Amino acid sequence: MGARILILGGGSGGLVAANKLAKALRGKGHTITVVDRSPFHYFQPSFPWVALGFKEPEEIRRPLRNLEKKGIRFLQDEVVAILPEERQVRLKAQGSLAYDFLVVSLGAELGPDLMPGFHLAHHPWNVEGALRMREALANFEGGRVVISVSGPYYRCPPAPYEVAGQLDFNFKARRIRKKTEIVIAHPNPVPLAGMGPAISGLIMEILQSKDVRFEGNFHAVRIDPENKTLHARDGRALPFDLLVMVPPHKPNRQVQHLGPTTPEGFPVVDPDTFRSVKYPEIFMIGDMVNPSLNLPPAGVVAHFQAEFVANEIVAEVKGAYIGESFTPVAMCIMDFGDDAVLPMCDFTKILTLEGPPSCGVLGRGKAVRVAKMLFESLWFATLLN
Ligand SMILES: Cc1cc2nc3c(=O)[nH]c(=O)nc-3n(C[C@H](O)[C@H](O)[C@H](O)COP(=O)(O)OP(=O)(O)OC[C@H]3O[C@@H](n4cnc5c(N)ncnc54)[C@H](O)[C@@H]3O)c2cc1C
Repeated sequence: MGARILILGGGSGGLVAANKLAKALRGKGHTITVVDRSPFHYFQPSFPWVALGFKEPEEIRRPLRNLEKKGIRFLQDEVVAILPEERQVRLKAQGSLAYDFLVVSLGAELGPDLMPGFHLAHHPWNVEGALRMREALANFEGGRVVISVSGPYYRCPPAPYEVAGQLDFNFKARRIRKKTEIVIAHPNPVPLAGMGPAISGLIMEILQSKDVRFEGNFHAVRIDPENKTLHARDGRALPFDLLVMVPPHKPNRQVQHLGPTTPEGFPVVDPDTFRSVKYPEIFMIGDMVNPSLNLPPAGVVAHFQAEFVANEIVAEVKGAYIGESFTPVAMCIMDFGDDAVLPMCDFTKILTLEGPPSCGVLGRGKAVRVAKMLFESLWFATLLN
């Protein structure tokens, strides 16, 4: 009997793993199944473009059922329980699925209720949020815009700076920039502090050229809806007319019993293989586990982890190692509207506990913005065509 490979999550990690496995195991009698609650895969880096009205949701998504063309079974359903002792996964509507190998890439969960007053905030961290933010922007005629984050851990650390640049560009085009102040309030002392001084300095320079004020060491604790004010742990208070705020991110609730976790509840995996330390046939990758590895929640990281675990599974199924080592890099094309920057970090030293990541700028200018558009097309063409 062929191996039953079950992949939970059709996001960045799940999609890459499924494609890699299908290519390597095609026609060998193995089954590859992907489960996701959503019928669509969204290209998340384009969420801010939806908020700004530059793209429509239909343009930045593809149906996950397209996987079926590659011999990958897709089930749209909610994962309600992973039963590692029985090697089964229980779904909300379609019963249980048995597996020999399980790849879990369910991402981090958003927890807006964890930030008091969050209903007043807008954000492009999911498609619904992006559309709501678009509406708020359409009604915004000027005033103070505060851009903030609910905590240090959130998908794509550079994205709030990108959003600030895009808002500056948008307000200039709408001729309301002169009566608008843009402030970024962030827990880091300087923008993207973890990426080192070269990148921090460059981002700060871009923000200053756009007259965006950076308020560092700002740990937001609550939003006062009556006075439209964002409060920080140290007592600072920032009144706003429009608040753009990354929602709190929390550990995925479906995976916390699969072995040890960090104090916050993020699963701890074997850092060399991304296998559960308790159940070696279970692999956990992506935003769901990266806090425990000190890796950032980035699609690129999930991508390389997915390739690595797919190779591990193929090696086990075929009985010969044909894999490659994990490449711990992350990059993010930061589109500022009229400028763009492509920073990249290598996290090898983080994994070996030798020091900080080594980061640099791979490119800057409008061509980098075009690269972002092209990358979106390439992503869909190779993974969900
Ligand atoms: C605005 C923004 C910009 C970004 N820009 C970049 C960038 O430039 N570069 C970069 O590398 N990364 C970027 N990212 C981050 C990147 O999108 C994520 O890090 C990446 O998608 C994580 O992949 P994942 O597989 O771990 O999780 P996800 O891609 O989030 O996938 C998780 C999947 O699991 C499904 N799911 C969750 N729970 C269940 C359940 N119980 N049952 C069924 N299905 C479930 C979800 O529907 C989802 O499809 C950005 C993110 C945002 C929001």
